[in-house]
Amino acid sequence: MSEVAELKGWTDGADAIVYQSCDACRYIWYFHRAFCPSCGDASPQTHRASGRGTVYAATVVRRAATPETKAHVPYAILLVDLAEGFRIMAHGNADLNLGDSIAIEFRPFAGLRTPYAVRAV
Ligand SMILES: [Zn+2]
Repeated sequence: MSEVAELKGWTDGADAIVYQSCDACRYIWYFHRAFCPSCGDASPQTHRASGRGTVYAATVVRRAATPETKAHVPYAILLVDLAEGFRIMAHGNADLNLGDSIAIEFRPFAGLRTPYAVRAV
């Protein structure tokens, strides 16, 4: 196993967002794959993202969907364009607006540790 393949993201228990890129065609993507989804190259590179980005879309949840999420309302569900060139979904502060600069932290949410966007300073 190569060194870059050992990078772990938040879905594997690390406080990190990892993404992949293709040296052959320069495509960048978020969901881990063994090959480039653009050109099929079988040697994608894995990287750790900075966690910096901007809000692309936002909606505020004011009514908890489950008893476990009741303590979190109100919160935003965001689409965030990260600086490295790919988009993720994250929870965040309810006062975030489109175009705001954010930084990703990791916080517990209904029993999981998930990406959480806060306004970048
Ligand atoms: Zn490619």
